[in-house]
Amino acid sequence: MQKDNTSNVESHCKLSSETPTLIDRFQTKPSQEHHEQFMRQVIDVLLKEAVFQGTSNDSLVIEWMEPESLMALLGEELPKNPESDENLIKLIKNVVRYSVKTGHPHFINQLFSSLDPYGLVAQWVTDSLNPSVYTYEVAPVFTLLEHKLLREMRRYVGFPDGSGDGVFCPGGSMANTYGIQCARHHAMPDLKEKGTFASRRLVVLTSKDAHYSIKKACFLLGIGSSNLYLVDVDSDGRMNLAHLREEIQRALREGARPFMVSATAGTTVLGSTDPLDGIADLCQEFGLWMHVDAAWGGGALMSTKHRDILKGIERADSVTWNPHKLLGVPQQCSTFLTRHANLLLEANSASASYLFQKDKFYDPKWDVGDKYLQCGRRADVLKFWLMWQAKVTFPPRKRKNKNKNIGRIIA
Ligand SMILES: *Cc1c(COP(=O)(O)O)cnc(C)c1O
Repeated sequence: MQKDNTSNVESHCKLSSETPTLIDRFQTKPSQEHHEQFMRQVIDVLLKEAVFQGTSNDSLVIEWMEPESLMALLGEELPKNPESDENLIKLIKNVVRYSVKTGHPHFINQLFSSLDPYGLVAQWVTDSLNPSVYTYEVAPVFTLLEHKLLREMRRYVGFPDGSGDGVFCPGGSMANTYGIQCARHHAMPDLKEKGTFASRRLVVLTSKDAHYSIKKACFLLGIGSSNLYLVDVDSDGRMNLAHLREEIQRALREGARPFMVSATAGTTVLGSTDPLDGIADLCQEFGLWMHVDAAWGGGALMSTKHRDILKGIERADSVTWNPHKLLGVPQQCSTFLTRHANLLLEANSASASYLFQKDKFYDPKWDVGDKYLQCGRRADVLKFWLMWQAKVTFPPRKRKNKNKNIGRIIA
């Protein structure tokens, strides 16, 4: 039998003589008596309808509804009174039924797909612990697993023995933003205090086929979209090195301060990879930071057959790599990796004294939170870690690699 949620709310509020307000109702302590059956039923629904039916060729990828009808079905307004657990299960069934089954074999998406049983289980584990990764004392296990996985990813990139630093962040767009921000701090550490007023006009270079998040990061970081110089691409969508050189020289002639090139490994539409070695040479010649947006293509680093496509990435200063794309880790799992060990901390540290005291009973280097723009941060590491344990190597789905084109590996 279903328990009614009203009784939970009442029992929770029985110490207070007042009618429970919304804030009281939001806090429900799990009780085996009240919630175990409910939770088991939900898990059964999920296993049956989302996981096994949702990935079966015999079911639909989406049961399509127009927004108006779907809104009517879901209810225009939130309820005024608590729903019973029985009704909640009905609501959950609707959520599952009308959502896209992104693990379905016919869900063809250029960026992410699949439903990995180990990844999913790890999400459940993570969510039942509800961690937030910023200090070691709050997230000891997750902190260490992040450290291990990020180091291993940097090894795959080719940084010497995986040295450097990194962060799991909410999406490749954020990772690219970190790339530009770290590059800017590296070139002009004064800007952290003085803001962009203290500098010449800043210029970032990327190709015309680069992901739009580079442009958004330029809005955000006070660079401005007109100071994002877009370099021509060849017919395969790869950055034209001669034009890159011209655009760097143009910026210098104009008296501007070009400070980074963002190359792409796996462009969003064509799946092309820029000539990374050639870009590294130019970055070296002009003293520019080299970022590689390998949000999509990074997974190819784990293929002995295809990793050559990314040759030159080991010379980058920083890399964006989304394991939730080519490796099929559940959303979201995105990383920013850099070869510079202290730069994230130098660029972002604000030394909040209520969190990051230096006199703790363990080495404060494990309090990673001061390095990042976020304070609280989801633990996206566990699903990647568990998949790693379960599989050890990730052979990306194979395809002939005629055009050095990442799209062809996974198409
Ligand atoms: C997907 C992608 C991004 C953005 O990643 P999100 O996780 O969706 O923010 C950036 N760059 C490239 C090349 C991508 O393929």
